[in-house]
Amino acid sequence: MQKSAQIAGFTEINAEATLSASTHGGRAKCLQRLIRLGLPVPQTVALSFGAVKGLAAGQGFDVSRLLATFGARSLLCVRPSSQDPDWGGPGAILNIGMNDRRHLELSQTHGEDAASILYLRFIQSYAVHVARLDADAFSFTDNDPTERLKQALTIYEDEADEPFPQEADVQLLEVLRSMARAWEGTTARLLRQARGAPPDAGLGLVVQEMALGVGPGESGSGVLRCVDQVTGQRRVSGRYLRQSFLRDALEANGEALYLLEDPRGPSLEGEQPEIFDRLTEMAEMCRARLREEMEIEFTLERGKLRVLDAVRVSRSPRAALQIAVALAEESIISREEAVLRVEPRALPELLHPQVDPKAKRDVILRGIAASPGGAIGKLVFSAQAAQAHAAQGEPCILVRRETTPEDIRGMHVANGILTERGGMTSHAAVIARGLGLPCIVGASDMRLSTSKKTLRTKDGRSFREGDTVTIDGSSGEMLLGEVEMLEPALDDSFQSLLSWADELRDIGIRANADTPADAQTARMFKAEGIGLCRTEHMFFEEGRMMVMREMIFADSTEDRRAALEQLLPMQREDFTQLFGIMVGQPVCIRLFDPPLHEFLPSDREGMRGLAEALGLPLSDVAHRVEALAEFNPMLGLRGVRLGVTVPEIYDMQARAIFEATVAVGRKGDHVVPEIMLPLVSARREVELLKTRIDGVAAAVRNETGASFDYRLGVMVETPRAALRAGDIAGHATFLSFGTNDLTQMTYGLSRDDAGKFMGAYVQQQVFPEDPFHTLDQEGVGELLMLGAERARAARPGVTLSVCGEHGGDPDTIAFCREAGFDYVSCSPFRVPVARLAAAHLAIRDRAGDAPGELR
Ligand code: PEP
Ligand code: MG
Repeated sequence: MQKSAQIAGFTEINAEATLSASTHGGRAKCLQRLIRLGLPVPQTVALSFGAVKGLAAGQGFDVSRLLATFGARSLLCVRPSSQDPDWGGPGAILNIGMNDRRHLELSQTHGEDAASILYLRFIQSYAVHVARLDADAFSFTDNDPTERLKQALTIYEDEADEPFPQEADVQLLEVLRSMARAWEGTTARLLRQARGAPPDAGLGLVVQEMALGVGPGESGSGVLRCVDQVTGQRRVSGRYLRQSFLRDALEANGEALYLLEDPRGPSLEGEQPEIFDRLTEMAEMCRARLREEMEIEFTLERGKLRVLDAVRVSRSPRAALQIAVALAEESIISREEAVLRVEPRALPELLHPQVDPKAKRDVILRGIAASPGGAIGKLVFSAQAAQAHAAQGEPCILVRRETTPEDIRGMHVANGILTERGGMTSHAAVIARGLGLPCIVGASDMRLSTSKKTLRTKDGRSFREGDTVTIDGSSGEMLLGEVEMLEPALDDSFQSLLSWADELRDIGIRANADTPADAQTARMFKAEGIGLCRTEHMFFEEGRMMVMREMIFADSTEDRRAALEQLLPMQREDFTQLFGIMVGQPVCIRLFDPPLHEFLPSDREGMRGLAEALGLPLSDVAHRVEALAEFNPMLGLRGVRLGVTVPEIYDMQARAIFEATVAVGRKGDHVVPEIMLPLVSARREVELLKTRIDGVAAAVRNETGASFDYRLGVMVETPRAALRAGDIAGHATFLSFGTNDLTQMTYGLSRDDAGKFMGAYVQQQVFPEDPFHTLDQEGVGELLMLGAERARAARPGVTLSVCGEHGGDPDTIAFCREAGFDYVSCSPFRVPVARLAAAHLAIRDRAGDAPGELR
């Protein structure tokens, strides 16, 4: 039996040694596990975090004792061992102990080429990483390894002003010191902190006897894994570099590979099936016992197999999900652990087609990544052109200065959207996320001419309508031409993982859905109802816009009612469809919100068309449009203010909702609709509207003889509504925080214009993040807390939620969960992210946040 020895800050790794990831790092711990599994790991010693810290501080270290642990003739390598392997560390240094004498000896046993290459590689890495010489100084005029070696020794001596050190103890001590110091460097610290390491994260080092993988017979080195890194499907892959190829490898800069597994050509599998089988068995054993897909790093020396290391297979988000689900289904890990192993923010990659990360990218434009996914299409510069392309079955990318409700039909048929202006909650961004379309906003580095149908980029390139581009909404880049895509992966594993997440989470997730198509998506992603249906979008549909305009132009209440009479059956049908799709789940309908002028044409041509349609003189139309214009429309006559001053619109909507409720009720589907008032700032607004809506409900009950209930709620999106939430909750059974407008009004920051300077603001750390993207927990969050507290005091049990775009953001979900909110509501395509993020929070809360050792 091997003995465990703790000498001068290092521990020989054997089955009994006392080490943990938190004292010696994840690599050391993993190597011990491999040894315990009986894998043929070369002799290895681990230096603790404390010993490495001491080395960096220049404290003495008994390197001779360390060397004595290994045989005098051993070559060694040193690798980093941080607590979490993802935190990185300095690169490994191999072949320590190579010197002129060992070169001679190895030339005799392993051949001169092999000996020279090993020595040469050591000199080069020592020169660059330890002696800190310039890598470019090592350029060679000869291809012969021994000639190169001679040149390298001369270059070293010239550059370092001293000969290359020949003593193994000097080499080893310097290597250990340089790696220890590299960990303490500012860049390395910032890098690992960005990967989640704490500021005081320690580094361990492992010193291992080299298993050379060179020599006569079957010799070489390679890696083997049993899973595909991109798809997560189980299949053996990796590479094997046969020693006979070493010289080629040198010439091809290490690129010459001998295949591990290839039925068509020479491969390790074909020529050494026993070794291949042994390796795959080892990888399977690691998977089962280390509870993770591991990549085995191995060497063969004259047919003798050694395992140098095993690391967690690096993987794409789609592979991460497949692997986690497969491990849980085989009961290797628990479902909780599988859920925790998939990062919520990585999910969007699985929901949309993605630009292949390996594809070549020629970036034309950059902006804010407002809605993820990739799409290819021809450039178009108007909603009409988008519709024309769609009619021909041609995919298109709609480019606008900014979008307005008038563009909605073009947006529905476009494959991607790019706007010059705007931020995370501008019209284009919100609609695109709702539709699941890739979108970039705030791409201000271009000159756009919608009349000439051209765009010119900062670097002087010009593009015209019809040119093919690829839009990458995940990175915020528009790319030239057609770039390769990866298809979405909503397969069984995806469904399984999310259903496990649902069993674990403890906050509700609803979707913001305006149309039957949105509602279908919400159902597909298993939202628990609709948290926000923005009804105004329904009026932009073909055939409705004109009636809307008639209603807006009506001079009298009767004329307005007549126009609304025409809209009533359409709205009733909208809600009947929504209730039908969402059967059994709550549907929260927000009454009409935007200022009326948004429905009127903005240019002369449009006004002329409207004048024709309404049989009015153009001047009348122009006059009315002008009269409706406001200096600050977002703070003007909109939301509940329209409900108070033009009450017929809300009357019609309430009637449509109740009649739809009765209609689906007659089919046996019981619905309790939720009606939500936007932009409330005073209790009296709610009082007035509640009285009217109650009246409409009573009338519909009388007319139909049916009984039904409804819930009235308020959207808290003005600071005053949050402050007066106690008052307001007296009339409302639920409050939903509209954090888009609430952020806009709390900061006094236009959600449609902030994109222009948000980059500069974030860069100069005025704001830590774009507050339209990440909830400002300190400011806007305080209003949420205040509102929630006051509402609860006035009405215990009041339902509380967030329905702004922040609802899909994991940090906001954490905030809402902590504050005891009932649900969050977000764009349908963000629902899976929200479900998973909510489950992470619940699991971590219950279990304490301990990262797995082998993550
Ligand atoms: C909000 O303001 O947060 C909201 C959800 O409404 P909208 O984005 O439609 O203004
Ligand atoms: Mg709003």
